[in-house]
Amino acid sequence: MEFETVIGLEIHAQMKTKSKIFCGCSTEFGAPPNTHTCPVCLGMPGVLPVLNRQVVENAIKLALATDLQINKENRFARKNYFYPDLPKGYQISQFELPIAEHGHIEIEVNGTTRTIGITRAHMEEDAGKLVHDDLEPKSYVDLNRTGTPLLEIVSEPDLRSPEEAVAYLKKLHGIVRYLDICDGNMQEGSFRCDANISLRPMGQEELGTRTELKNMNSFKNVQLALEYEERRQRDILLDGGSVTQATLLWNPDQGKTESMRGKEEAHDYRYFPDPDLVPVVVDEEWIERVRTELPELPGQRCQRFMDTLGLPDYDATILTASRELADFFEAVCAEYDNPKKVSNFIGTELLREYGPERMSECPVTATQMASLLAMVEKATISGKIAKTVFSEMLTSGDDPEKIVKDKGLVQMSDEDELVALVREIIEANPEQAQQFRDGKTKVIGFFVGQLMQKTRGKANPQLANKLFGQELK
Ligand SMILES: [Zn+2]
Repeated sequence: MEFETVIGLEIHAQMKTKSKIFCGCSTEFGAPPNTHTCPVCLGMPGVLPVLNRQVVENAIKLALATDLQINKENRFARKNYFYPDLPKGYQISQFELPIAEHGHIEIEVNGTTRTIGITRAHMEEDAGKLVHDDLEPKSYVDLNRTGTPLLEIVSEPDLRSPEEAVAYLKKLHGIVRYLDICDGNMQEGSFRCDANISLRPMGQEELGTRTELKNMNSFKNVQLALEYEERRQRDILLDGGSVTQATLLWNPDQGKTESMRGKEEAHDYRYFPDPDLVPVVVDEEWIERVRTELPELPGQRCQRFMDTLGLPDYDATILTASRELADFFEAVCAEYDNPKKVSNFIGTELLREYGPERMSECPVTATQMASLLAMVEKATISGKIAKTVFSEMLTSGDDPEKIVKDKGLVQMSDEDELVALVREIIEANPEQAQQFRDGKTKVIGFFVGQLMQKTRGKANPQLANKLFGQELK
């Protein structure tokens, strides 16, 4: 029996704002426990929340970037549940009237483009954090994160494989980072996702029973967890059993999912409009102002790199994987106008050390990379030496000129100087020289190799080829 996999994702993106969503406390990560708190986020009786305008603005940006329709009047609701990291006994979220609904983005998997629906995006506050000490054993509550603004982005169950789920996640990750509304750090939990997954017999309209997966803090874990759960459900169904609706935790160390609790439904939360907050009104003027301030998005930028810089699809896609990388690439091109050469060098030399998400840690500036490439262009150094110089730049952060000078790496392009060495090498290898004269011209590679060894890679390779051709005759 053939089954079809159905996946929907719920993404929580932590909004990049200085203060929390309903109070003035700082959102900075890593402060001593319970120092970024006040009566509002501690949920003291009698306090009143005040909405952070920036959170609404960030939500508008996301809505415009993903074709979501903005609800010009939307409102907050209380989601009631008890947990030690939730001092109020309810989370302020949005329920029947979220800020935006009915959007979509396009993803590409194995050369096929698919449109994935986005059901809704809503604003909400984060809960606190429990820190467990297994030795004592004791648990501690840290409420610094309480009230941190989140945007929850819920997809339609349109994804049909773990690959598509990861492609969708990566696409949205790119969008929130380009919009600069979320830092996208998955390890610190500022971009996290839960997944609903179910299987149904091929051709069946009705959805199968789903499970919800939590605790997947990297793209790789999302892929592995969904693959595991897809297999587990298929085995149950093939055995004639039925899947139990549940919330499962992904255990990355053991590579399997573990049961966390029975799945709760929306009505379990007793949602009702928050009486302490007025409806949020977003007028056309506000939307239009935000629209004019939107940056170029990854898809548009990728297209521009192909259309105006003449880059192949492959290069443009890699270079626009993060805003930082695309900015860096354009900054190098501004000083060294050969986009394809810049792209090749970034693709082979830079990305091996620093992925698109780690560009901020790279010590090499765009100016330094541009002057390194210019040195190759002017034949001051060879392309091979440029790689050595670049890896030195990555460690020391020094200018390429300084490294080339200090290490004596300037390319040898002086004909008289090289011809003496060429003759010496020919004399020392009479057998190979004879082979060349007998018509085995490929042996010239051997001679050039010898010269490179003697000059520690500094001989100009074109000149070396020419000189051996001329001297071997
Ligand atoms: Zn506070």
